[in-house]
Amino acid sequence: MTRHGFTSTTRHVIASRAGYRCSYPGCQKLTLGPAVAPDQYEDTGFASHIHAASLRGPRGQGGLKPAQLKHASNGIWMCGAHENLIDKKSGVRFPVNVLQSWKALHEYRTSFEHSGNQAAFGFVRTLRLERSPLFTPGTQIDFAKTTFLIGPNGSGKSAICEWVSILEASDNIRRWLANNNVHYDIIFDAPAEHRLSVQTEGILTLDLDGKTVSRNHARSSAVYLSGRGDNRIVCDLRRIMDLLQIDEFALRSLGTRVSGDFVKKVEFVQRTQQEDDEDELQRDDLDAPVYVLESHLTNGRVMRFEQLSGGERGRVLLELAMALAREGTQFGPTLLLVELKSLGMDWGAIQPYLDFFGSPECLYQTVLTSWELPSDVEMLGWQIYMVDGRPGEKGTVVASPRA
Ligand SMILES: [Zn+2]
Repeated sequence: MTRHGFTSTTRHVIASRAGYRCSYPGCQKLTLGPAVAPDQYEDTGFASHIHAASLRGPRGQGGLKPAQLKHASNGIWMCGAHENLIDKKSGVRFPVNVLQSWKALHEYRTSFEHSGNQAAFGFVRTLRLERSPLFTPGTQIDFAKTTFLIGPNGSGKSAICEWVSILEASDNIRRWLANNNVHYDIIFDAPAEHRLSVQTEGILTLDLDGKTVSRNHARSSAVYLSGRGDNRIVCDLRRIMDLLQIDEFALRSLGTRVSGDFVKKVEFVQRTQQEDDEDELQRDDLDAPVYVLESHLTNGRVMRFEQLSGGERGRVLLELAMALAREGTQFGPTLLLVELKSLGMDWGAIQPYLDFFGSPECLYQTVLTSWELPSDVEMLGWQIYMVDGRPGEKGTVVASPRA
């Protein structure tokens, strides 16, 4: 059987692009060093194939031509232990897209360090649920570059997002404080490994690397976009502050730097009394000014939020959240959590964003929730989990292998 192995030159390219460190998230093991003899060195790394070198190899060949299989882009640098791990059981646990996203992340980190920066980059690796009302104790989610949580309404997808968003702030776990008893760990690299242990039992207890804390002090961020916001809030500014959980000045500042595919810039302008009268607007609070969002679209038009379709409003909010995640990723591991279908966008409008999230240009991790998968799921750096939360700690989260 023909094996499309890497040449020694290609192997050297793959290793060098990884800084001769293992690409497995959190490993970073140095695979090159001095041997005992003063004129010798030891090279303990492996250029693993992402798509398989031979026809029946792990993960299959994905229809790639021999030249593509032998190309440096099809290799990921690993230490011995992790080379062995990723190829077990034909690579089912580590599909192509996951390895590609690890490679993209690791090469970014290496390039970041190589350009003289301190390595601030990292990876949110694992959510482990020790105790929750919905899932079997020990349920674990390993986050890839892009992770899809699939399940019907009420299956616990939002719960997972709320729990993870504690990396940024604890506001989202409010509903778990009162009646429920939740205990989970988040393991992340920033870039050193950290473990944030969260317990709710009337009061919130956080433990970071064995020390009791009131908030997560390790450098990391999470942006959670749970929908289009509370319709009862008339003021666009206040509604989006509430939705993205940032303060007024942070939101106004962020608005000037959206630079997305759909909207370049967002401004908030105060409504006049005359506009209120014309719309017969009933204000709940007469003293507080009402601000409307004005979106400067990439097509040159300026549209108010209320003039946009539901799906277009979703795009504005998504691009605001992406701008926030883009900022965070320069300083530490950043997770963008999006309840995709609550944005009101159809799959056609969502697809370009999915392509971006799966691409190496997107430097933050994404967690996307939906009750179904889009029809075209190829070529993206996704890990898919089927979420099936059941009351009484009976639910499951199962990784869906994609050959
Ligand atoms: Zn390793």
